[in-house]
Amino acid sequence: MCGIVGYTGAQNAAPVLLEGLKKLEYRGYDSAGIAVMDQDRIEVSKVRGRIAALCEKTRDGASVPGCTGIGHTRWATHGAPTEENAHPHLSNDGRIAVVHNGIIENYIALREELLREGYHFLSETDTEVIVHLLEYYYRGNVRDALIKTANRLQGSYALGVICADEPGKVYAVREASPLILGIGLGEHFFASDVTALVSHTRSVIYLEDGEFAELSADSVRVFDCSGREIAKKTTRILWDVQAAEKGGYEHFMLKEIMEQPGAVKATIAPRIRDGKVLFAELEGLVPHLPSIRKIVITACGSAYYAGCAGKYALERLCRVPVGVELASELRYSDPLIDSGTLVIAISQSGETADTIAALRECRERGAATLAVVNVVGSSVASLADYTVYTWAGPEIAVATTKGYTTQVTVLYLLALFFAEHLYPDTFGLGRMAETVQTLPRRIQEAIDMNASIPALAAKYHRSPALFFIGRNTDYAAALEGALKMKEISYLHAEAYAAGELKHGTIALIGEHQPVIALCCNPAVMEKSLSNIVEVKSRGAEVLALTFRNNQKILSVADDLLFIPEVEALFSAAVEIVPLQLLAYHVARENGCDIDKPKNLAKSVTVE
Ligand code: GLU
Repeated sequence: MCGIVGYTGAQNAAPVLLEGLKKLEYRGYDSAGIAVMDQDRIEVSKVRGRIAALCEKTRDGASVPGCTGIGHTRWATHGAPTEENAHPHLSNDGRIAVVHNGIIENYIALREELLREGYHFLSETDTEVIVHLLEYYYRGNVRDALIKTANRLQGSYALGVICADEPGKVYAVREASPLILGIGLGEHFFASDVTALVSHTRSVIYLEDGEFAELSADSVRVFDCSGREIAKKTTRILWDVQAAEKGGYEHFMLKEIMEQPGAVKATIAPRIRDGKVLFAELEGLVPHLPSIRKIVITACGSAYYAGCAGKYALERLCRVPVGVELASELRYSDPLIDSGTLVIAISQSGETADTIAALRECRERGAATLAVVNVVGSSVASLADYTVYTWAGPEIAVATTKGYTTQVTVLYLLALFFAEHLYPDTFGLGRMAETVQTLPRRIQEAIDMNASIPALAAKYHRSPALFFIGRNTDYAAALEGALKMKEISYLHAEAYAAGELKHGTIALIGEHQPVIALCCNPAVMEKSLSNIVEVKSRGAEVLALTFRNNQKILSVADDLLFIPEVEALFSAAVEIVPLQLLAYHVARENGCDIDKPKNLAKSVTVE
């Protein structure tokens, strides 16, 4: 999920690796390391924290001589961000070193198998199984060992590998995680991101899933997963470095919006098997589920709105009352929380001060606590009894996008998981799990079907105020849609439960007032339609978000945003996507600093 680099050539590898890792720092990471091969010896240096500390430890690379090496910045997914868990990882015989980006989904089974074979594990990472498997399969040929090892791995990985028996060679393997080879003169590189390559070369080869490369100073060979050599095309990079950091997108926010199908897939994939939701991390909670009388979700900002969206699935499937409380309110409210309560605290960074305080308060009252966080080893994760990670990867833009959608997805998965244990005979749980599995595809479709958003943004960007309306699950998505608009475009945007309009807000609706109406929940479609007619008859201009074939809405709305049809209980994760894009393009029209909106910080560590 974070960064890897590799080098072989005539220069000392360590300074090249360190420089490459510095170029990847913008992605966020928690620890870093390099492994350098000198003749037939491998030396590993790693640190918790910054690359600067790694430079200090290795005297800018001078203390680790050798012309072949691999490097890593880690965004912890399995195991806390410690020096032991930092990459590279070494085989027990010290002859093979590995760096890995991604997640090995079947690492528990592989770890057990390798322990039985007598291998020792020095870290808590999923990655370490790879290096021991390589040692296990190694019979004098790294290529063969790589093929056999890759055949055993499930999940996503970009790997860099060196072996002391093959001085001067580095291997790069790709499966569902980016990896690019850099072609130099008498030297070769690889990196998970072109940013780390462009200062050395602009000639690159993009590896595809299932391919691996063997690099030496004077040769580049690429193979498919059966070991057959394949011819690859060399591409010239024309981007500047800044654009490369953003993967060619103008802003991190747009890049992160586009990453959502992958992030949601990474969140779901390890957790659904044969139509059942599995959370190995919650095994200890399962026996207590029947005694839980209420669930309280607590969070701030978008994470709070993720809670609002998840509440519908949790209540419907678990038949337990669910309250969603702002952490800043809950902590001072003398809350009615006891040992019959399950508290779910949601925070992307895991360092949100109010959420930490609310969680402490709830723990003191005897509640069982479950954290939904993105950053491994963060404070919220370490405080809670149980933690479920969203595998969104590092999020750089201040306004969350993939953080929110992966949080909502985790709540859907939790609803199904709890229901499987509380009411195993419920009809349709397997089918619902399948629906959740389609979310990455639906999100991609929602991105693809809204090419008109820049034009709509040009039409609406000068409005002094925007109202978002919806009912039920549509209302939950409207709350987050309005927050996105406020955060990055600075327009006054408010979300209202559509049925509430006539109890006050409709007084604000006049000629040409834009109203963004979310109509994706069939159970309340007729009611939503009436609300649209109400505001239209007072002069409002309606931008409706609905399905392509929803004739009724299509005929009354002035403008349209679309999503593919998704079961309403799980649709907020898809509905939000066109609204994120709308907020993005409105902010762009208004010339706002999209990735760093004024007055806002990514991780709110103060009260
Ligand atoms: N899953 C691995 C770990 O937790 C790799 C994480 C990464 O991609 O940085 O160590």
